[in-house]
This record gives sequence, C-alpha cells and structure tokens, in this order.
Amino acid sequence: MQGLMQDWPLLVSTILDHAKVNHGEQEVVTRSVEGPIVRTTYAELHGRAKRCAKALHGLGVREGDVVATLAWNTHRHMEAWYGIMGIGAICHTLNPRLFPEQLVYIVNHAEDRYIFTDLTFVPLCEAIADKCETVKGFVIMTDREHMPETKLKNAICYEDLLAESDEDFEWVKVDENAGCGLCYTSGTTGNPKGVLYSHRSNVLHALTVNQADAFGMRSVDSVMPVVPMFHANAWAIAFAAPMVGTKLVMPGANMDGPSIHELLETEKVNFTAAVPTVWLMLLQHLEASSGTLSTLKRVMIGGSAVPQTIVERFEQNYGVEVIHGWGMTEMSPLGSFAAFKPAMLELPAEEQMGYKLKQGRAPYMVEMKVIDDDGKEVPRDGKTFGNLVVRGAAIAKGYFKGEGGQILDADGFFDTGDVAHIDEHGFMQITDRSKDVIKSGGEWISSIEIENLAVGHPELAEAAVIGIAHPKWDERPLLICVKKEGSGVDRDSVLKYLEGKIAKWWMPDDVAFIDEIPHTATGKIQKRDLREKFKEYKLPTA
Ligand code: AMP
Repeated sequence: MQGLMQDWPLLVSTILDHAKVNHGEQEVVTRSVEGPIVRTTYAELHGRAKRCAKALHGLGVREGDVVATLAWNTHRHMEAWYGIMGIGAICHTLNPRLFPEQLVYIVNHAEDRYIFTDLTFVPLCEAIADKCETVKGFVIMTDREHMPETKLKNAICYEDLLAESDEDFEWVKVDENAGCGLCYTSGTTGNPKGVLYSHRSNVLHALTVNQADAFGMRSVDSVMPVVPMFHANAWAIAFAAPMVGTKLVMPGANMDGPSIHELLETEKVNFTAAVPTVWLMLLQHLEASSGTLSTLKRVMIGGSAVPQTIVERFEQNYGVEVIHGWGMTEMSPLGSFAAFKPAMLELPAEEQMGYKLKQGRAPYMVEMKVIDDDGKEVPRDGKTFGNLVVRGAAIAKGYFKGEGGQILDADGFFDTGDVAHIDEHGFMQITDRSKDVIKSGGEWISSIEIENLAVGHPELAEAAVIGIAHPKWDERPLLICVKKEGSGVDRDSVLKYLEGKIAKWWMPDDVAFIDEIPHTATGKIQKRDLREKFKEYKLPTA
C-alpha cells in the first residue's frame, strides 16, 4: 500500500524559493572580484537567479544541457548556479587550478555550452577558447564598466545579460533524479572523471551536512565557505545555508590570511570551512600580527587530514572548535566528521585529541565499512585497516558517460581508494590513499600520520612522506620537508622531534629538504610528482 503523502520533488530550486520566502532579508556578502564588498540578500539573489535562468533559456540552453562556471565564491557565482540548475540544465564547476590542457579535456568531455567566468580567468578562457569545441559563448561575471578588452569571440557581460532579462520565469520542473551538477575528479587513475549530482542527491546531501553534529548551521549564524564552489560543491554550503537562512560571506578571489581574517571579523563569521592549508595561512597571519578572532566559534576542516598543530592552535589560542571531516567529490562530498559521542566527553584531553584527529563517523545516508582484499569486512577495532568502501543516497554510482566502467561492487559499495580503520565507536581514521601506503617488510606504514606529526615541528612549514625502494624491506619512508622561512633546521633535529611519537619501525630512514611541495588542483600533496622527483634517491640504510 502506498503512503498518502504529497509528491514534492526535491529540486534545488526549492531551496532558493524557501530562502526567499522565509529568509528573504538575510544577507549574502561578497568580496567582489572587482574589489569592493557587495551586500545582497537571499530575496535579491533569488530574483537575479531567475533573471539568469530566463536569459539562459533565451540563449537556447535547455534541460540536460551543460553550462560551466569557472569562478570564485561570490554571489554572482551562486546566482549562476541556481539559474543554470533552475532550468534543468547541468552546472559544471571548472577548477581554475587545473592545467589548461586538463580544462580543455573536461570542457569538451562535458560538452559545455557556455562558460560563466570571473574577470580573473578571462586570460585562461582566451588561452583555451579555440579548443573548446562545444562552447558558444563566455559570460563574464562583471558589469559593463569593468568589461575587459578580450579576444573572446562571444563574450557576454553578465550584468547586461541580467538587466535585459526579468524575474518572470518559472523554474523548469524536472525529475528530482535529473542531473544538476557536474564536477570532475582527478583522484582516480587515467583521465579526470565526471561526478554527476542529481537534484535529489544535492538536496538530501544539504540536509545531511547540516545535522547539528556536522555543520549545524542556523539562521542566526554567519558562515564563510572558503572551500571553493568548484571543489566538490563548496561542501554543499551553497545549498545548506539558504535552506536554513544562514548569512553567507563569500571571500571571492582573496584567500590569503589577512583577507580571510578581515572578513571573518567584519562580517561576524562564527562558522567557516576549508582545507588545512588555508587555515595554516590564517594562523600564521594571526600569530604574526597578534590578531584575534572575536566571533569565530567553529571551523570545519577536511580535504586532507588535519594536523594536530592546527587543532591545538585554534582551540588553545583562539577558543575555536575544530571539526575534522572527510569526504570526496564522489560523495557530494561529506562522508564523515569527528564530532564527539557521549563516551568521549569525559576522557582526558590527550585521548580526546586522538578522536578529533580521526576522520570520524558517518552521518545518516552514508554507510561505511572497511574490507580486506577478499572483500570481507574487517573488525571495528580501531587498528585493523583495509579498503574503505561506502554506499549512500548522495554517492556516485558511475562516472559521467560511463568513464571508468562499473564502479560499484556486487553490494553497491564504492571503493574510496582510501585505506582506513574504524573503531568500536564507528570513528574512521584514514591512514593513506591506497596508492600511497608504504609497504615495509609486509607491514604498512601510514604516511599521513608521519606527515601530520612532522608539521608539528616548529621550524617546518610542510611535510610529505613517500616510500623509497629498499633492498631488505621493499620500501622505507623518506620524509620530505619544506623549512619555514629563515629556518636552519636539519635532518637530525627533525628525526629527534619524531622520536617517541611514532613506532620505531615507522621512523623515516632519511629526511630531504625541498623548497616547495607540489600540490594537486584541490590542494592535496601531489605524491606522484614527488615519487618521480625522488625515484633515484638512495636511502642511507639501503
Ligand atoms: P576530492 O575528491 O578531491 O575531494 O578528494 C577526496 C580524497 O581526499 C579522499 O578520498 C581522501 O583521500 C582525501 N581526503 C579528504 N578529506 C580527508 C581527510 N580529512 N583526511 C585525509 N584525507 C582526506
């Protein structure tokens, strides 16, 4: 027997409709790409998203077409998102940190019709435009006054486009399972692969991330998503914040310590989210300038494992709570967060820290387990590690256009490519990417754990650990470090610092210093490049 409840499709347009009606006056504040701070509201943003939708319709964009954005976190980017998705088209977020050839590949693979771009990326668009086979035009997200001289053949001024349009437009009612967002990931081998989010998965995921133990945003809060909208949906904040009427503070193009600090203070931000490197920059700025954080209460950190030094500095020096989260593009992206359970509340601080540094437990709608190479689940004992697999309502079941073939196992689980263990409280901890684990004498060494301890050394700015071939042990760890400016730290000081903090057989066999550690377009350490650079390296123990 069927239930007798209404059929109310979960479309992302309903989120902005809700925000307009119930939180229309709430602010969306942006540091614009042109420079000044721009203040708008959810009501205005709704109207402008409708204008954008109608204009796109006028340009011939239809249901199922793909329209890309190459842009910072701004109110205009958000209007474009809702405008594109609101006509049943698919909003494809392009990551400007990718190499131009990768962008060309992705744009052509996705068959993007238009690209909405910020002033910053006009030169990049000019460089790739001729190779973008399906792109009919570039919408430059600025006003007439700031329109640049450009070689782009079909450059459209965003504000003109909106001014010539109007708000009298009904969102296109597509099926809730229709695609609405597309984001390519290069986390897997081979070419980048597209993850195609549906309206339903985005709405459900926004509800998931906003559980009180996770983001827990409220209408009285002020949130700054520093995590870019081109990096796994800005962790769903552009959906979850309007759903509850939270004030949004968009940092635009300036993600350096001083700019972020200024906005946190002037806009009374009490919750924010980004990858660890952003927070290292902010903390360094605060420490150098004796700055304070007068309203910030909570920081969500994920994308890479959070080092202990970040948690300590935030908590002890500024009274800011750190919530460590893990996820991936394929998971919309949030997969877990390390919020305490009752059993952890009374523990000594040191043991509590152990839990804060884990990637944490699954929210409702994410099923997670660790399996061995035979597919058998390993015990939840906090030490037996294996392959982390996941299943859920906002997790990919295949890549765009079938790239990569079948990606689920017989039970519908997706292999994350992460190596992890889960403890009796359901707290998961990642020890490595499966391709990065160091296999020493048949045992596995966690590169992530050593890296995160090493960056606690007061004179190190960054650290990466890779396996180097060893005649006796197969592989042994090499610790590669970047010194803080002006530091004369040496190998012995670094090894001494690690002594007693990790098992003896985990101790790196050597320490190498380099000027810069290479990063991927999403800010992760590029181990492939490091392995290449150090492929001839001879360990002193070999
Ligand atoms: P992406 O799809 O680019 O967001 O990358 C997802 C991958 O980033 C995951 O599979 C992990 O390997 C890594 N990752 C994300 N969050 C964390 C975290 N908190 N700790 C360790 N690794 C993480």
